[in-house]
Amino acid sequence: MNHFDIIIVGAGPAGTACALSLKDSGLKVLILDKNTFPRDKVCGDAIPNTVPKALKMLDENYLEALRSFPEKINIDSCKVIAPSGKSVTLHFKLEGYASARMDFDNFMLKLAEKESMASIVTGDGVQEVTMSHDQVEVTTEKGNRFYSKIIIGCDGAHSVLNKKLTTTKIDHDHYIGAVRAYYKNVKGLQPNTMEIHLVKGFMPGYFWIFPLTNNSCNTGFRMVSSSI
Ligand SMILES: Cc1cc2nc3c(=O)[nH]c(=O)nc-3n(C[C@H](O)[C@H](O)[C@H](O)COP(=O)(O)OP(=O)(O)OC[C@H]3O[C@@H](n4cnc5c(N)ncnc54)[C@H](O)[C@@H]3O)c2cc1C
Repeated sequence: MNHFDIIIVGAGPAGTACALSLKDSGLKVLILDKNTFPRDKVCGDAIPNTVPKALKMLDENYLEALRSFPEKINIDSCKVIAPSGKSVTLHFKLEGYASARMDFDNFMLKLAEKESMASIVTGDGVQEVTMSHDQVEVTTEKGNRFYSKIIIGCDGAHSVLNKKLTTTKIDHDHYIGAVRAYYKNVKGLQPNTMEIHLVKGFMPGYFWIFPLTNNSCNTGFRMVSSSI
């Protein structure tokens, strides 16, 4: 019951896409996530054209599932506003969307639940990982133990697996910190258009406004960590 070929830690877009890509492998796969879904994730909520492209590569039907998923809006332009107030609007040729991660990540997990053969455990996070020459042992916060031959870390920016199993350190010159908030009924936005404002005194960084469904907007400010 607790033995798998592969354990995927994290059921965000990376973990669920990984499980979907393994669906015909014949391998016994477990996805393990510390949160219960739907769960929020701080993000700009833009779904760039690489997402439809990746879903199509996995299976044409997954792209169709995304196209008919209702909690998203089409994004076809991006307005970039310079500190002087001058702006340029870029029009996208490829399809892209915006969707709150609360909804989008739940869509991805449901797709993995339906389409991949993976077992899914949520609401229980990885606490310890030990590796021997032929096996990985995972101990969770609730005291469960799972074993596998391979473990894949899809546990996000503050990855426990990264901390436990690698020596990778954050390079603050190439890392961005951000704050994000949702607002409703923001006036003056153009339909289906994201806005990026470059603000004097806050470079290298920018303020964004990305429109979402239900008259809401994802707004935020991000800047290179070493300059914060
Ligand atoms: C402010 C901000 C704005 C961004 N804007 C955009 C944007 O507009 N468009 C875009 O494409 N990208 C954006 N990104 C980047 C995007 O959020 C990430 O690239 C994306 O979420 C990575 O997906 P993931 O599946 O790797 O990780 P995540 O989505 O972070 O998922 C990781 C999962 O691992 C789980 N987990 C964590 N620790 C454990 C543990 N110990 N045990 C078990 N499970 C665990 C978490 O619960 C979570 O579900 C933004 C990021 C930030 C911070």
